[in-house]
Amino acid sequence: MTTPTMPSEYPEELSGNVLGGGDAPNSLLEALHAQHVPFSIGETERADHGRDWWPLSIGWVAKGEVPSFPGVVVYPRTVEDVQLVLRTANELRIPVTPQGGRSGVVGGAVPMPGAIALDLTHMNAVLALDEISGTVTAQAGIFGPDLEGFLSPRGLTTGHVPQSFDLSTLGGWLACRGAGQRSNRYGKIEDIVRGLSVVLANGDLVVTGNRGPRQAVGPDLNQLFVGSEGTLGVIVEATLVVRHIPKHHEQAAYQFSSFADGLEACRRIIQRGAHPSVLRLYDETETKRNFDVDECALIVLEEGDAGLVRASMSVVTEECSGATVLDPLLVDRWLAHRNDVSALAPLWARGIVVDTIEIAGPWANLATIHQRVVDALLAIPGIAVASVHQSHAYDDGACLYFTFAGYPEGDTTDFYRRAWDVASEAVLKAGGALSHHHGVGRNRARFVSEALGDAYGVLVAMKDVLDPNHILNPGVLGLSAPPW
Ligand SMILES: Cc1cc2nc3c(=O)[nH]c(=O)nc-3n(C[C@H](O)[C@H](O)[C@H](O)COP(=O)(O)OP(=O)(O)OC[C@H]3O[C@@H](n4cnc5c(N)ncnc54)[C@H](O)[C@@H]3O)c2cc1C
Repeated sequence: MTTPTMPSEYPEELSGNVLGGGDAPNSLLEALHAQHVPFSIGETERADHGRDWWPLSIGWVAKGEVPSFPGVVVYPRTVEDVQLVLRTANELRIPVTPQGGRSGVVGGAVPMPGAIALDLTHMNAVLALDEISGTVTAQAGIFGPDLEGFLSPRGLTTGHVPQSFDLSTLGGWLACRGAGQRSNRYGKIEDIVRGLSVVLANGDLVVTGNRGPRQAVGPDLNQLFVGSEGTLGVIVEATLVVRHIPKHHEQAAYQFSSFADGLEACRRIIQRGAHPSVLRLYDETETKRNFDVDECALIVLEEGDAGLVRASMSVVTEECSGATVLDPLLVDRWLAHRNDVSALAPLWARGIVVDTIEIAGPWANLATIHQRVVDALLAIPGIAVASVHQSHAYDDGACLYFTFAGYPEGDTTDFYRRAWDVASEAVLKAGGALSHHHGVGRNRARFVSEALGDAYGVLVAMKDVLDPNHILNPGVLGLSAPPW
């Protein structure tokens, strides 16, 4: 069984700089004890469950600061355990933050001080496999390697492989509306999910979907919980589509003289109906950093039935005919290093502020969004780098994934907030979406009402109905508590 891996560890002695916390009430602990639901009120476990991979919290941890002390960490083993925790929390009005691998990078798994940190990683069993239909059902706390470790000896895969594959869980993928690195072929998590079991704030269990590939019986209730970031219910089980592991692969790499030219090629490829599993375009900075090549590199990997792969790659070849052909082994270089996440924490420990901002936008606006975000970031004193790549492409647009890094001249948190303010403002003004796959968490909560416009009221109304006491993950997704 995989266990969560965190980017930085607390020093042996926590500094006095604890940002807040409170003890769990005895009535809660007694209820957990009476029903044999495992929990811990140890300081180290509470501190560790008070943070996730939000880069700002990496910096806090490195300094021994605890972003938020939950009152108790609860480790449910069964759906009934989760129901008991939520029923009791709802009666006592105690906030609850569901947690998977805590690999979220926007602070969504950082609980309120004194809250229940609901660590779901012990609910990690595969429950059913339907090899004829091609679906697998598992508990929400299962990590990527454990789920794929069950499927791959049977020749199957979900195809959902985020960069955080080793660090994240099925429930976290769904709750954040995540995207895997091969999503052009397999779809994002919302395309792959077929059914959910969800415990609501009052402890009731509901099952959504689970009746085949789709149904026209009102809105798709699976999608109500996909992307809800622990604010509308706790996902305890999910059914996903599985595919046969592809036997045939082809790869290619090209060099474009500008990012805009490369984006145009990506658009033409996708709009002609080819959906190569990986179609990633890097700007000059990231091309140099990742591949030691000049200008802008596009790497392409296609997989599946040999005939389909050949057809898809012939579209790629035609649409990249104006670009310089690079060594296809650049794709192997990307494959070898794509999940290496060791660089991040040491940078924060050295006082360098670094983060990534993934957004989506229509093809018609992408070049503008790119330019405005980079310009806005570089205008901040102390920002040293603002770079971008395109990582997920659709018929009508794509995801742009920015990276910024700098040395704050004043307060680190102010510097960090400013970078997010200017970048998010630039994206929203240019018609882009606030997030493509990391979600909102705490970090982006202050932008949600603008990002959703009038529809924000619909989200608030759903919250009021499903969680009238607002116990589920307050402060996340711009709901139930003032934004960070
Ligand atoms: C190095 C790195 C690379 C990454 N690459 C990708 C990537 O390629 N694609 C991508 O999509 N994301 C990526 N991420 C972001 C992150 O891994 C994903 O958001 C992931 O889906 C989070 O899963 P988790 O199990 O760690 O969830 P957590 O971080 O524990 O939780 C995230 C949010 O989901 C909620 N939640 C968790 N489990 C449940 C549940 N069972 N029910 C209800 N709510 C729940 C939490 O309350 C929180 O709001 C990356 C992160 C890192 C650190």
